[in-house]
Amino acid sequence: MKKLLSVFAVLSLMSFVSAFGEDTKVKEGSCCDKAAKKGEKCAHPCCVKAVADGKVCEKCNK
Ligand SMILES: [Zn+2]
Ligand SMILES: [Zn+2]
Repeated sequence: MKKLLSVFAVLSLMSFVSAFGEDTKVKEGSCCDKAAKKGEKCAHPCCVKAVADGKVCEKCNK
């Protein structure tokens, strides 16, 4: 039971970080923002690589 609770705590912490972490924010008007608004994913190689790492491209979203 204790183990289950700690797993839950880690998961909720991770979702909190991904919801509010700087790494997951796309800049308004960036290539990724425009693609997301069209319901697509940005096709730039740098952005695709960043998304694969669970982030957004720092080059295009700073
Ligand atoms: Zn992009
Ligand atoms: Zn990029």
